[in-house]
Amino acid sequence: MQIKNHVFFNQPSVNQMTGVVFKNYVLKKKIVQHMDKKNSLTINELCKKLNTSAPKISTLLQELIDDEVVEDLGKVGTGVGRRPNKYGLLGGSNFFLGVELENNSLDLCLMDIKEKVIAYEKNIKFDLENNEQSLSRLCEIILNFMETNPLWKKNLIRIGLNVSGRVNRHTGHSHNYYNFHDKSLGEIIHERVGVMTYVENDTRAKAFCEFRREDLKSRSNVIYINVDYGVGLGAMVNGKLQYGKSGYSGEFGHIPFFENELICRCGKKGCLETEVSGRALVNQIVDKLGQGSSSSLQKKFKDWNKIKMMDIVDAAKKDDMLAIELIGSMASKLGKGITSVLHLYNPELIVFGGALTRSGDHFFLPLQMAINKYSLSLVRNDTRIEISKITEGAGAMGACFLAKNKLLTSF
Ligand SMILES: [Zn+2]
Repeated sequence: MQIKNHVFFNQPSVNQMTGVVFKNYVLKKKIVQHMDKKNSLTINELCKKLNTSAPKISTLLQELIDDEVVEDLGKVGTGVGRRPNKYGLLGGSNFFLGVELENNSLDLCLMDIKEKVIAYEKNIKFDLENNEQSLSRLCEIILNFMETNPLWKKNLIRIGLNVSGRVNRHTGHSHNYYNFHDKSLGEIIHERVGVMTYVENDTRAKAFCEFRREDLKSRSNVIYINVDYGVGLGAMVNGKLQYGKSGYSGEFGHIPFFENELICRCGKKGCLETEVSGRALVNQIVDKLGQGSSSSLQKKFKDWNKIKMMDIVDAAKKDDMLAIELIGSMASKLGKGITSVLHLYNPELIVFGGALTRSGDHFFLPLQMAINKYSLSLVRNDTRIEISKITEGAGAMGACFLAKNKLLTSF
């Protein structure tokens, strides 16, 4: 299956373009970039920005209009004298599909190039497992979603897929899930679904969504910590999202932190995640119940192995003492661990997101106390600590933002 429409973003032979053809392609991409930053621009404004003649800009704009990327907005604004036409990106067209994979569900977000959310579906039943069945189900869900509305399918130009663990964004390889094919995960989804797919780390996508908050646009040094079934970190340093050489930076959950004998999912012993994560929380509560501790979850679940992270978070919110104690103890350890991040980066803000943070003060107060106890006050005084206000959709929306960013900035 090949997308026939939106030829500008789906040109098969960019690498083989030469001379004037490539030069025009680059100029058109730059027009799109400028329009993305400023909602609308006149031909004169584009001439100055791109140091190009008005007839040339007019021709390129017409080609972008024909390709359904740009629209003529007409004479915008009021004023005396002749008002020139303005041009902007065409809304309701050129869609990005963000896919956020969770352990037992997935979220989908469809966004247009002007970042308007067209559709959002959450908690679609799905089991994230490293096998062919799970991969086929993932492709089936994406294809079904595209079939829901012919316009969505026609206008979809990129898919952004978030996976936890090590992800190489350049090659599209996921090293923890769907790693049993020779081809990268990005290539496989592209082949089966027919839309070019970018693969990203889930925490980095959530961090990118958080960093686009209106009040953070002027900030340069912000850390996002995702505390969910695992623990990850996304960093914005001097205004840029950090990747490291291959995209493996931010593996905060796998720093060696404890002298314990617990084997982490990465295969090593004593990682931070072995005692501080949703997975650890589930193991800890099952152990405690086995040792005779009491909790409201005993009545709710005959089979304790069916208890999920959010069941414990919900129990804490309903004053379950065991859940409160375990989450509090976890937040204290995390606060101690965060001190090293605070000392290394000297950020102006650290935002905590992810399911475990939804237990509110049961999480936040012990976290803040541990940070106060272990960090250097001079460094800490520079840093505000807060819980993310984005309660849902951060991963899927972040995937759309990252896919758009990658598409518009790559040549
Ligand atoms: Zn580990």
